[in-house]
Amino acid sequence: MTDTELEALGVVRDAELAPLTTFAVPARAAYLARVESVEALRRVLSSPLAQLPRLVLGGGSNLLLTCDFDGLVIRMEIKGIELAADDEQGRTLVIGAGCGWSETVDELLSRGWGGLENLALVPGTVGGAAVQNIGAYGLEAAERIVSVDCINARTLEERTFDVSECDYGYRTSIFKNPEYADWIVTRVALRLPRAFEPRTGYKELAALFAGAAPESPLQVAEAVKALRRRKLPDPKVLPNAGSFFKNPVVSRVKQRHLLEDMPQLVSYPLAGGRAKLAAGWLIEAVGMKGARMGRAGVYERQALVLVNLGGATGAEIKALADEVARKVWLRFGVKLEPEPVIV
Ligand SMILES: Cc1cc2nc3c(=O)[nH]c(=O)nc-3n(C[C@H](O)[C@H](O)[C@H](O)COP(=O)(O)OP(=O)(O)OC[C@H]3O[C@@H](n4cnc5c(N)ncnc54)[C@H](O)[C@@H]3O)c2cc1C
Repeated sequence: MTDTELEALGVVRDAELAPLTTFAVPARAAYLARVESVEALRRVLSSPLAQLPRLVLGGGSNLLLTCDFDGLVIRMEIKGIELAADDEQGRTLVIGAGCGWSETVDELLSRGWGGLENLALVPGTVGGAAVQNIGAYGLEAAERIVSVDCINARTLEERTFDVSECDYGYRTSIFKNPEYADWIVTRVALRLPRAFEPRTGYKELAALFAGAAPESPLQVAEAVKALRRRKLPDPKVLPNAGSFFKNPVVSRVKQRHLLEDMPQLVSYPLAGGRAKLAAGWLIEAVGMKGARMGRAGVYERQALVLVNLGGATGAEIKALADEVARKVWLRFGVKLEPEPVIV
């Protein structure tokens, strides 16, 4: 395609992606399209660029790029918050997939609309949150999602997935299934309850409120933000992608064996004879908290977070992640899986 044709589509050639991801590792895209509307997205997907390998980018906060991307990167920038229904029980909002999640939570709170306060300050976009089913402090995005609007990158079909079709689970959805990789999220409908239903059962939140009921969603959001700021490094200061590993789920039998060995192990029973182990605890137990390999490190205040100490490549961060997982496997026989998408 000629430069003029690319310009008309809002596409740039040979674009640096580091500023578009929170790990800030160097990586270039052969083509970068920033799309602000479904129409603009359709135009890009109808062009010859659609034949190339494709990567959709939201806020780049759950992504580790380990090399250049020889294809088309689509940066989702569709914005807008629309009030679709307002009744006695609650409000339904249809939000552009390119809206910042944290900014959206703040905007809704400033209108006095609660329901997402436990997910305050989670980075990334609304689209990314619907793909990943973000969760924090006792709430998952799937509990508020009503439906997800998508466009199929190959056929250009537009489809609304009802929440029941999204196959939501712990940090996962149907959109992470390779068979659904062609579906790009363009808008997400969320339902917020009108009544304030504070959720402060999560251990650290409960301790903060110490039995006193919070007065407003804003108060819960402020508490969540304070806790997050204390625990997690700000990617602008110390680039990272939040928790790098999922908390592993094992059988109760395996949990029992581990507990016999190490009664201090942090774990939670789950339904169906399973149990969740605290990945951070396992990493700390193998002595990797604060460890460094080259310019990549395990955050010294939270072992679940890997950080770019300055100038790290994606490959260096991946090598450190592999080493952490190897040590945990050798010591406990537990497999750690990365939470971010590794490209
Ligand atoms: C400091 C920090 C703290 C964090 N805390 C939490 C937390 O508490 N809880 C939690 O769950 N997560 C947390 N995360 C992870 C991250 O914020 C979420 O996973 C977020 O939802 C990712 O959204 P994104 O827009 O940045 O996605 P990206 O990183 O851009 O993309 C992630 C994946 O989703 C796909 N994708 C993104 N947008 C679309 C779209 N519109 N259509 C189709 N596919 C798409 C991408 O192709 C990629 O595969 C944290 C991250 C950081 C840096």
